[in-house]
Amino acid sequence: MEYKRLRGVGVSPGISYGEILLTEEVVFTERKENIPAPAVRREIDRLHKAIERTKEQLTFIRGQVKEKIGEEHSFIFESHLMILEDKGLLSKLKDFIRNERVKAEWALTRVHESYIKIFQSISDEYFRQRISDLTDVLTKVYKNLKPGKTKKKDDGKEKILIAHDLLPSEAAVKLSRGNILGVATDMGGQTSHTAILARSLNIPAVVGLRNITREVQTGDFIIVDGTDGEVIINPPTAIRKEFTSKKKKYDDYYKELRKIAKLRSRTLDNYEFFPLANIELPEEVTKALSLGAEGIGLFRTEFIYLQNDTLPTEEDHFDIYSRLAKASHPHPVYIRTVDIGGEKSLPQLKIEKEPNPALGLRAIRLSLRDRNLFKTQVRAILRASFLRNIRVLVPMITEIEEVEEVKLIFKEVKKDLRKKKEDFDEDMPLGIMIEVPAAAAMTDILVKEVDFLSIGTNDLIQYYLAVDRSNEFVSYLYKPLHPSILRLLKYIIDTARKAKREITVCGEMAADPLSALVLMGFGLKSFSMNPIFIPRIKRTFRSVEYKTVRNIVQGTVGLRTAQEVEEHIIENILVKYPKAFLKGHV
Ligand code: PEP
Ligand code: MG
Repeated sequence: MEYKRLRGVGVSPGISYGEILLTEEVVFTERKENIPAPAVRREIDRLHKAIERTKEQLTFIRGQVKEKIGEEHSFIFESHLMILEDKGLLSKLKDFIRNERVKAEWALTRVHESYIKIFQSISDEYFRQRISDLTDVLTKVYKNLKPGKTKKKDDGKEKILIAHDLLPSEAAVKLSRGNILGVATDMGGQTSHTAILARSLNIPAVVGLRNITREVQTGDFIIVDGTDGEVIINPPTAIRKEFTSKKKKYDDYYKELRKIAKLRSRTLDNYEFFPLANIELPEEVTKALSLGAEGIGLFRTEFIYLQNDTLPTEEDHFDIYSRLAKASHPHPVYIRTVDIGGEKSLPQLKIEKEPNPALGLRAIRLSLRDRNLFKTQVRAILRASFLRNIRVLVPMITEIEEVEEVKLIFKEVKKDLRKKKEDFDEDMPLGIMIEVPAAAAMTDILVKEVDFLSIGTNDLIQYYLAVDRSNEFVSYLYKPLHPSILRLLKYIIDTARKAKREITVCGEMAADPLSALVLMGFGLKSFSMNPIFIPRIKRTFRSVEYKTVRNIVQGTVGLRTAQEVEEHIIENILVKYPKAFLKGHV
């Protein structure tokens, strides 16, 4: 048994090892089998039966997946059932059998090929996704033409799943069974369905390995290191030992995080805080909640636009937002309207090249230029607010006129929805990002115009210190604890609290224990961050007393440098609460 190591993309952290389970691939037939005219009816009948059987299976699986891993992962089966309801597809298949006088297998093969050709010629990521759904469904129908024949049962033993590429429904079914310890595939990337699912089920996974299916054979033993993106085939004893201890370390760390996630979000003196999650896909909700998020504090919508070559339709938006709202319910979700433009350019938007993209036509500036684009998104957000847990957040506000225009647009869209008798949240809260220094300086005026504020420290620091947030040559100047930044943040938080408006910080600063303590000291309660950092922040906050933190933070007034601030906080916090940063920077 040959020892080999392969590198891929680690998409779900953790380590697992075991014997492999190779998925069987269903291959459409290459044989054209002609049938006599009287047999045509029988073939069409076989096709109908196979479709009915597939529908029953999909409905059953949908129920199972919903129960075992959550509703948002069961939507895929909804769309698969819809494919089977498609009248065009069914009549194509039947016509093919009738006109060519062939068996149903051949009809499925050829109709599948013809769809692939059409979709591929469109060369669009969205349609490519539809190909995999169509293949997924037609493969099932194909198998069901001869039920029982391909049933090579998984013996239920714990194994590492190896596949070329997992079809979305295959991934949901196989991974929800509970006997898959790890996953390794030839294809796939960070946002593939398998990756998202593996992450939310905590199954270590490495994808994009190119040819793992050709490198392994039944009986092989492999290690999947989802943290570092490596797969080791038939490791010698020394390597096995090394990974056993690496696995133990990771598992212990993870267990500790899990424990913290379930604990109350209160400081030692009972000061309540709210950890929220920053995410980009509705499928990330389950994991975020399991890590202790008490809502989605920032749903970045850029992903919806960057996914495809064409602009998303209102239904595309609505589908995503309503899934998001359902998966998070009853927790709140803050959907941010698109923050695109500048360097995150989209060819379909025809934005001219700009000399200073960070200061250019981005976010709300672009939305107010391309009103129809903006209205499409606003309509979808409003329509998805039927569960009453959505709030909308507008990025890059610079002046009050922009807020007024946004409010007018919301008014218009609402009027239209009312006319169409759509159910939506009439009082959906509207908030703005404070990330442009001019808006920060006007907080007292702006706050009266909206229901809440969210501070985008990533951009606010970049613009206030005039330091490009992604330029490594000046990164030494990018200091969240710079006294000037702290003065500004204190002013924004104080002003929002005085006006009795909710205020959140959703930049990276909220995820750093030291900076987050400073924000808490200013009286901040809502902290939105990448969900993996939530347990760490909870651990820090749960080991301190708010009153003392407030006093320590007050002591930073008058300090001259970021370094002085940092030293002051660390020294004073550690003297009183030695556990606050314990393993805090894991
Ligand atoms: C921010 O600017 O702090 C923020 C949260 O938004 P983004 O990182 O998406 O610009
Ligand atoms: Mg920003």
